[in-house]
Amino acid sequence: MDFDDTPEEASYRARVRSVLTDRAADLLHVAPGEPVDARSREAELRATQGVLAEEGLVGVTWPREYGGQGGTLVQQAIVSQELARARVPTLVNHIGIGMCGPTVIAHGSDDQRSRYLARLLRADDVWCQLFSEPASGSDLAALRTSAVRDGEDWVVNGQKVWTTLAHVSDFGILLTRTDPERPKHAGLTMFVVDMHAPGVTVRPLRQMSGGADFNEVFFDDVRIPDSERLGEPGEGWRVALTTLMNERVAIGGAGSDIGQSPEALAAHARERLPALDPERQALARQAVGRALVASLATRYTGYRRFTTLSQGGVPGPEASAGKLGGTAAARLVADAGVRLLGDDAVLGATADGDDTWQRAQAYVPGIAIAGGTDQVLRNILGERVLGLPSEPRTDKTAPFSTGGRR
Ligand SMILES: Cc1cc2nc3c(=O)[nH]c(=O)nc-3n(C[C@H](O)[C@H](O)[C@H](O)COP(=O)(O)OP(=O)(O)OC[C@H]3O[C@@H](n4cnc5c(N)ncnc54)[C@H](O)[C@@H]3O)c2cc1C
Repeated sequence: MDFDDTPEEASYRARVRSVLTDRAADLLHVAPGEPVDARSREAELRATQGVLAEEGLVGVTWPREYGGQGGTLVQQAIVSQELARARVPTLVNHIGIGMCGPTVIAHGSDDQRSRYLARLLRADDVWCQLFSEPASGSDLAALRTSAVRDGEDWVVNGQKVWTTLAHVSDFGILLTRTDPERPKHAGLTMFVVDMHAPGVTVRPLRQMSGGADFNEVFFDDVRIPDSERLGEPGEGWRVALTTLMNERVAIGGAGSDIGQSPEALAAHARERLPALDPERQALARQAVGRALVASLATRYTGYRRFTTLSQGGVPGPEASAGKLGGTAAARLVADAGVRLLGDDAVLGATADGDDTWQRAQAYVPGIAIAGGTDQVLRNILGERVLGLPSEPRTDKTAPFSTGGRR
């Protein structure tokens, strides 16, 4: 398999690179591993995405009719690589682009698509994904946030948690329970919710990596017009699966590195390895070797999935393998990076105050949870890829209101 650019890809890459150089003054740039606080840098992040959208570098694979570029996954990968190379931070609306937008495209009305999608690509509106609740994460279909029909509206009450970017969001896709008398997967309905509507309260949560990217969100008698429903009442689980499959592709399912790249680790090793004492050096060398093999293997396996997706295939359970492998490799890379620091591994101990590797290490456990935990992804692979028998599940057939019991 040849991973070099074809002549067309090389010319696309050159165009992307020249746009990023020409517009450098209009874009936010950060050091590798530097945390970007969405709240304090919201305006710069939105402006950066706006400039990139203007230049056709956002929504590369989205259909043209919805404001995208109708491009290929390889072009999307090229744009991502070049943005990372130019040290432009992750797009502020990455959840909107990777998950919410594709869900609106697949299940929204024409009116919703024309009102939301172009604005989402320009970051005129930022979006979030309101699925998880305090008692339903892996078992998402057990969620309790209720939506009750009242005339032309639905009235929503409940709580979501771990909602990334809710504190800067204008809209969210919200999964609710609309019929507790049906089995849990069958009683759900998805909506687009206005995050500025009366009754929506957002409270930030602080993470051990130092950021405060996610939030608790409370809904108290929030009214959502029926025209903001995504899909039919009771079809929410099917709609949510579109979001979740796109999420697993977005998080490492198609060959993109999670966290620090193998190249960054190799450069770090060249710099730091010679300074370690012999015993630590031997251990660090082994750790670096293991991490490089794992991350390159994951990257190339992901590239093979590209082919399927590029040929119009839908993201399937294999995306779970990509996320699982990518997370395991990211953990090895971050651990090796920290090991190379020797005594400087204590947070904030490096002479220049650079704590890129410690932050990378603190970030990986969250990725092993977001969008399906490692254990849940292994279950999916066991049942849906390897064909192993599934656990007995009475909760799939009994009414939700009976707690999954008949
Ligand atoms: C960085 C980050 C960003 C996130 N962003 C969002 C967001 O924007 N929107 C959103 O809605 N949610 C978001 N989440 C929440 C995320 O989807 C949930 O944390 C995740 O689904 C796990 O749910 P939980 O935290 O309730 O853990 P639980 O489901 O309670 O799991 C606890 C433990 O039990 C294990 N476990 C659970 N079920 C099984 C099983 N059947 N078999 C074996 N082991 C099992 C899990 O693997 C885990 O180790 C985010 C989470 C993180 C970490």
